[in-house]
Amino acid sequence: MFATDLDDTLYREIDFVMSGYRAIGLELDKNNIMAADDAINILKSAEDTWHGIDNLVAKIWLNHHDTKFSTEWILNLYRTHKPDINFREGVRDTLKTIADTGQKIGIITDGRSSTQRVKIEALGLLDFVTPENIIISEEAGGDKTTPIPFEKLKSNNPDEKHFLYIGDNPAKDFRWPNAMGWTTVELKDVEGKNIHSQAIYVPENFKAQYVITSFSDVLKLVAKA
Ligand SMILES: [Mg+2]
Repeated sequence: MFATDLDDTLYREIDFVMSGYRAIGLELDKNNIMAADDAINILKSAEDTWHGIDNLVAKIWLNHHDTKFSTEWILNLYRTHKPDINFREGVRDTLKTIADTGQKIGIITDGRSSTQRVKIEALGLLDFVTPENIIISEEAGGDKTTPIPFEKLKSNNPDEKHFLYIGDNPAKDFRWPNAMGWTTVELKDVEGKNIHSQAIYVPENFKAQYVITSFSDVLKLVAKA
């Protein structure tokens, strides 16, 4: 069975972040709170999304007391907006090739149910994956630092003998599937665009067995698995 991570494996997570910033900017503009570009610039210039939203809310409340645009409201819009995201190069064709060979596809992703589901919907992943094989940490009751999501996919597919998992984050993507005897594959971020750096120290058992630089290269390993 072919299992894959979502963020920074199937699409660029930075595209989701920028899409969220645009959604926030447009909403503030529409409500005459602030020009969209000004809001987007405040968000982009912060060290991360959370600080950016804090800075933005501070700015909004300088001029608009008693507005509904609180930190919580803006975060909710960010997490639930319909994102403008697309598969990375080669991903759609690769998933189609795998599905065409009759192999099942699963997703194991960490995050909130609502946010991960709008991403899955926007990418059209339900063309390739059946609902029971979408494992989202918030729904599964454990993230990838635990065996829980991997075991859930395995127990949902008792007839499958071989599992392959492709992801991008050595901090948590490969430790448990390695321990469970799965084939593990790291998609190397050659453009330096990933949200989570791959240049971190991890023990040997956290490392993927294979490292590839293009998603479609995984087809060679699928054939072996
Ligand atoms: Mg990832």
